[in-house]
Amino acid sequence: MRIEAFGEPMDVFPCPQCGKMYRHKRSLVRHVKLECNQEPKFSCPETGCDYRAHQKVSLRRHVLVKHSEEPLSPFVQNL
Ligand SMILES: [Zn+2]
Ligand SMILES: [Zn+2]
Repeated sequence: MRIEAFGEPMDVFPCPQCGKMYRHKRSLVRHVKLECNQEPKFSCPETGCDYRAHQKVSLRRHVLVKHSEEPLSPFVQNL
């Protein structure tokens, strides 16, 4: 499928199920296989947090950013 983006025609691959568009066919294939209409597999272990993610790395990042009590950088520790 061809759309106009930033004034230029561009080939995109739309998801047949949800309409999300991808620049690369492999991204669409990954989306359909892993994300589209799939329940997120990974849920946050923190009580009261209902964050869920399709990918483990997303959950890891969420936990680090939202629930980590460690300072983000070791250099800011106990100065
Ligand atoms: Zn989709
Ligand atoms: Zn969480």
